[in-house]
Amino acid sequence: MGSGRAAKARARPDLSASGVTDFLPVLSVPADIVVVSLPSVGGGWGVRRSFQFLLRPTGKQAAALAQCLEDHRVLYNAALEHRRTAYRKAGVAVRYGQQSAELKHIRADDPDGQGRWSFSSQQATLRRLDKAYRAFFDRVQAGRTPGFPRFKGRGRFDTVQWPKDGDGCRWHSQPHHPTATYVRLQGVGHVRVHQHRRVLGTVKTISIKREGARWFLVLSCDEVPAQPLPATGAVAGVDVGVAWLATTSDGDHLDNQRHLATSASRLAAAQRDLAGKRRGSNRRGKAVARVAALHAKVRRQRLDSAHKAALALVRGYDVIVHEALNVAGMTRRAAPQPDGEGGYLPNRQAAKSGLNKSILDAGWSAFLTILSHKAESAGRQLIAVNPANTSRTCSRCGHCAEDNRVSQAVFRCTGCGHEAHADVNAAINVLRAGLALREAAQAA
Ligand SMILES: [Zn+2]
Repeated sequence: MGSGRAAKARARPDLSASGVTDFLPVLSVPADIVVVSLPSVGGGWGVRRSFQFLLRPTGKQAAALAQCLEDHRVLYNAALEHRRTAYRKAGVAVRYGQQSAELKHIRADDPDGQGRWSFSSQQATLRRLDKAYRAFFDRVQAGRTPGFPRFKGRGRFDTVQWPKDGDGCRWHSQPHHPTATYVRLQGVGHVRVHQHRRVLGTVKTISIKREGARWFLVLSCDEVPAQPLPATGAVAGVDVGVAWLATTSDGDHLDNQRHLATSASRLAAAQRDLAGKRRGSNRRGKAVARVAALHAKVRRQRLDSAHKAALALVRGYDVIVHEALNVAGMTRRAAPQPDGEGGYLPNRQAAKSGLNKSILDAGWSAFLTILSHKAESAGRQLIAVNPANTSRTCSRCGHCAEDNRVSQAVFRCTGCGHEAHADVNAAINVLRAGLALREAAQAA
């Protein structure tokens, strides 16, 4: 996981050496750089950020958390069933407003069940279903063939959100406790939080999340003060790749992806093993736990890797240019199979290559998200450019051809003979495109 080598002094590629002037925007970077490319979240100077902490529930509280999750899952499935039936029997589209209005009756009819939990958290779950529907129809409109919103099986519903601190939940609910921090959750009680870092800004939403046998608290905060870093006068283009998470136009490789490939093949083996176990058997239970643990491991590795690479970049550069990745398009799945009842069967797509690819895709997407948060907080400028042809174009002469890319790692221009690491060549093109965009924006 070699990351922190970015700071190594290294000769920058000379972008002005080619003499093809219309292909080369000017490379001067003014000292007073303005953040222009990021949407301001929540307005003002602060940024939005989330904080995740391990929860330390008592045995009784852990049981209540599990029940809370289970009841929200049942609610989600019931609301989905309602929408599907209404549509199938009467051609009626049920909307969020109606389902939310029915919550009152559902709660009144079931005071010891659904009635125990926060009304607002239940609304959040109904909104989650609504969002899944909207996303489905958006994709249909876009001419794609998305999977229909699915019923959530046990273990496929791992998070509940309270949309507002103070409404059915309270962060830091026992402020006078001398040593520990607590969060109060309606129906669960004051749960101890392992608060390993300070929370900044204003807590907006509170969520719980189950990962295997562990519970986490996620606080989403607004108005987190930005922490600008001093200007470095340096700019970089970044190429995200298969062997390395990120490669810069200066020739630095950040975070090797080999450990992810290793985890991917372990995960594939565990999933094959799981597929061979009889439903309801003890061994199957163990296999399920193993798959879940490996998934969690991949997620941790991915986040760790993304944080390290993003940190190295925002420390080193004032302007960072990356390719706009159509991640949704990259992870296109096999076409869903209709189940004959208006829904779709889950499609089997556990081939190792597919799994490996989806892990990489998720890694790139996590990396760019984290990079954008860190860049915003540090006052760095982040520019996304169109990825077309960046890996096929020669960064020295501008010649664009499929044959230029000799292998995963090697680029050799069929026009001028220029040879370079393929990712570095791409990163230089990305940088150039970004600086051109920036020039155009400043001229306008
Ligand atoms: Zn060339």
